Amino acid sequence: MAYVYPTAVTNVSDSFQDHVNRGSVNPGTDYTSAYGDTVSAVAAGTVADASNSPSGGGGRTVHVNHDDGTGADYLHLSSVAVRAGQWISQGTRIGQSGASGYGDDWYYGPHLHISFRPNHAGGYGNNGNQDFDAIMKSQKPPVPPKPPVEPEEEEEIMRVGQVHYTNADGHIVRALYAPGSAYWMPWQDDTAGIANGFAKSLETGASVAVTESLYNALARAAEKLL
Ligand SMILES: [Zn+2]
Repeated sequence: MAYVYPTAVTNVSDSFQDHVNRGSVNPGTDYTSAYGDTVSAVAAGTVADASNSPSGGGGRTVHVNHDDGTGADYLHLSSVAVRAGQWISQGTRIGQSGASGYGDDWYYGPHLHISFRPNHAGGYGNNGNQDFDAIMKSQKPPVPPKPPVEPEEEEEIMRVGQVHYTNADGHIVRALYAPGSAYWMPWQDDTAGIANGFAKSLETGASVAVTESLYNALARAAEKLL
């Protein structure tokens, strides 16, 4: 499955390896983030814990158990927008980035720390924590571009009705026409016996496919008749 970045800014201010190298008890990836930026879920899952207290090293923290079996902690938030037990879809806003930790809302400089794990182990600590940014860079684009949509071919279908008129000799002439257009076609003359085969085929149908050139030719003729 494809994960998405938790913040709009994807620049890493402190890498997973840097956390490991300095002996971080809860190694993760720090993304550059201003105070109050939106933090969103990297995958769909259930909120296992949502702490709105700045106490502890992680400060305001949201822990999500992803549906795919992995999990993530989002640390140092300035506000929390979800509650424990809530199922959230990928990309859901879970809170705002901040600098909280050790009982202080400004213990750190603002950034988002994400601890990603291949399991649902929560809590503050190293429980198989993985390099989330490496995962992001190894996967295909999270949302692949959709193939371009080809324009639909225009259907040459018109609705057809009937009209009749009395010609100069007093005979009734029937014609087909397309309402809203000037398309018409002589059908039958009660004395001349015009019986247009194409038109006859329309007796039971309400619509017919015609070519544009036929339509235009008939439209021009119709202006003289109707
Ligand atoms: Zn960190």
